[in-house]
Amino acid sequence: MEQKIKKLAVRNLRLCTKDCLCLFVCPTGATDTENSVIDPEKCVGCGACADACPGGAIYLVPLEYPPRQPKDRETVNALNALSVKKTELETLARQVAGETDREGLRRLMLACAASLRLTGADLMRESGYMLPQSREAKDFLQGILMEPPSGDFPLAEVWQLMESL
Ligand code: SF4
Ligand code: SF4
Repeated sequence: MEQKIKKLAVRNLRLCTKDCLCLFVCPTGATDTENSVIDPEKCVGCGACADACPGGAIYLVPLEYPPRQPKDRETVNALNALSVKKTELETLARQVAGETDREGLRRLMLACAASLRLTGADLMRESGYMLPQSREAKDFLQGILMEPPSGDFPLAEVWQLMESL
């Protein structure tokens, strides 16, 4: 039965130094193309090219992602509250930046504003994967319980955490 490709190699031409190492290691010839775009029809996602590339110009992208977890009402409410708070703080930081005549403070406030915007967006985007009640988090904790990383690992706390999810 044909193996399903889970990942595909992609080349960032701006980082490529054209030393052709990826051409030598690729088992299928997928990297050897006229237009320098890795051939998705030939790539089997082995990663040899990415490992060999000295410039970090090749990376593997997954073709499938785990399904997003549905967010329960409590999670949505918490996300909305966090989002509002981050927006308020971002507005405040921009306000301070606009009013101060101290260059250092102005730059610091602009950095804070940018950080608040990014972390807010991250929270909204990744909550289906990252929040503790996601299936991935539960699987991760279950794995720790089944195979503790060390003999003195605080398993009681892991149990407690799982109970609270
Ligand atoms: S991941 Fe493997 S098959 Fe795909 S281009 Fe790289 S070396 Fe070739
Ligand atoms: S190994 Fe990396 S730097 Fe070299 S040709 Fe391939 S993509 Fe470009």
